Amino acid sequence: MKHKICMIGEISVGKTSLTRRFVKSVFDEQYKTTVGVNISTKEVLREDKAQKLIIWDLAGTTQGKGILPQYMAGSQGAFLVVDCTRIESIQYIFSYLESFKKLNPKSPYELLVNKVDLERAPGVSEAVRELENASGASAKWTSAKSGVGVEKAFFDLGTRIIHSI
Ligand code: GDP
Ligand code: MG
Repeated sequence: MKHKICMIGEISVGKTSLTRRFVKSVFDEQYKTTVGVNISTKEVLREDKAQKLIIWDLAGTTQGKGILPQYMAGSQGAFLVVDCTRIESIQYIFSYLESFKKLNPKSPYELLVNKVDLERAPGVSEAVRELENASGASAKWTSAKSGVGVEKAFFDLGTRIIHSI
């Protein structure tokens, strides 16, 4: 089983860091902007079968623009990633979500609120709650730095993909 999943979100929310944490179990502070798309894969065992996750780490720019629809097309799942230290990263996730749903109406997605090792910006909890209400998803709080929530987030999305196909 091979499944394509997309990392979607504003620039600098931690899409690349979350991917590296999951695929390689590493984190580095050094900031490298993703240009275009990075594709990495990780195989996980599920109920005696191998599931290969093909992770498309998309370079978002700002304000909900910048992701080419063809990158999202054919995805079996997605992570919508926001940053709990920057409330504006939440604002624009709606337009990314709309694009994703239009292209992949049946694919599950998970909402990740990343950087929980840092202090939350004021208003973030309320903004996340609104996003949960609007999207019907319940947010998972993660840290690519400490690793909190990361493994489980990928496991849960992988499981939902298997059950959605
Ligand atoms: P992307 O543009 O969404 O791919 O974001 P990156 O993964 O490149 O991360 C942007 C910056 O945030 C980098 O300096 C990372 O080291 C940092 N970062 C990413 N995730 C976390 C996290 O969970 N905690 C902390 N403290 N920093 C993070
Ligand atoms: Mg990146």
